[in-house]
Amino acid sequence: MEFKYLVPTRIYFGVESIAKNRGVFPTYGKRAFIVTGKASGRVSGALEEITGVLEEIGAEYYIYDRIENNPTPERAGDGGRAAASFKADYVIGIGGGSPLDAAKAVAVLATNDMDPLELYKNVFPEKPLPIIAVPTTAGTGSEVTQYSILTRKDLQFKKSFGNESIFPAAAFLDARYTQKLPYDITVNTAIDALSHALEGYLSKRSTPLTDILAEEAFRLFGECAGSLQNGLPAFEVREKLLYMSMLAGMVIAHTGTTLVHPMGYALTYFKGTPHGRANAYFLKEYLDYNYTDSGAKIERALSLLKLDGVEAFGEVIDRLVGKGPRLSEEEIEKFARAAAVQKSMAYNPRAVTDQDVMEILKKSLW
Ligand code: NAP
Ligand code: FE
Repeated sequence: MEFKYLVPTRIYFGVESIAKNRGVFPTYGKRAFIVTGKASGRVSGALEEITGVLEEIGAEYYIYDRIENNPTPERAGDGGRAAASFKADYVIGIGGGSPLDAAKAVAVLATNDMDPLELYKNVFPEKPLPIIAVPTTAGTGSEVTQYSILTRKDLQFKKSFGNESIFPAAAFLDARYTQKLPYDITVNTAIDALSHALEGYLSKRSTPLTDILAEEAFRLFGECAGSLQNGLPAFEVREKLLYMSMLAGMVIAHTGTTLVHPMGYALTYFKGTPHGRANAYFLKEYLDYNYTDSGAKIERALSLLKLDGVEAFGEVIDRLVGKGPRLSEEEIEKFARAAAVQKSMAYNPRAVTDQDVMEILKKSLW
């Protein structure tokens, strides 16, 4: 047995965790640069609560609310310059994965005067600013990962960068912030977390410790799946989903994703499909494809999900997201070419050829 494990984030989970732990903020300095989306910070209620606490403790803050969905390095560069000129001591990311990932890039660019594309060298001469992450979706787990996934127009794809220095220093997880999430985003993001747990569990890089986290994530998703299919979930379910997405984030912090995410990135980049939903369309075929090599682990995951087989799994996903877009033959080829070259494919338990990716895409969306 041999493995490494590191998630250095201080986690504060629970209702009103920000107000109850207000003493955490001044430990990172006096000037907070808040990175959020156009609406998510305000709609979730998180922005108001955080600025309230910052005002109470006499901290200065700047609200940068220009993060779009699937943010670009250029936007992060703009944020980084704003954070540097504000002389920020630390960054607070509030939102779904998009603002949280952007906050990580901003934290690097605030202290390192470099072209945003140099983020991908993963060498940051100056230490990035400390990051506090406040998720308002329950899906990406970005609050406990060292990854930032940005959309590269030059590569026509999404590409992640990151190293230990951009793990959030602290994360506040309060499920009240996810309560106003509309149904489709609730489902998409929950399935993103499920996808992280599944890809990490089957990955060649899985470890005994990440398996424990993934198995608990399956058990929790299994408890929530019924109510998710019946409309907007109750608070208790939202809280479980937030916890589950955090556990799945801890899994991918060590294993990364494998086969599903690259195909999902193609669908998001070329078709605009939201991230979690894009993954959802491939999950059933992903399990089928890996069944010969990883049948025992897949059965264990399914039993924790309280599902009787891969077909039953596919039916639940279909009920949650419906059928995906129909792709043309040219699109299938283009998406397969773009996905197959992604490094993470190498960690899928069964070796994946370009032809295999094309087949999975076809079976899922043709
Ligand atoms: P998102 O792109 O952050 O947000 C999707 C939509 O939900 C946005 O319109 C957002 O509004 C809205 N929203 C967020 N919170 C809300 C709330 N509480 N109430 C109402 N609306 C809310 O979606 P996401 O699925 O959380 O994140 C996806 C991104 O994360 C992708 O770029 C993906 O590649 C990345 N990701 C990162 C990791 C990682 O480890 N770092 C892992 C998986 C995925 P606004 O536009 O106002 O923000
Ligand atoms: Fe994801």
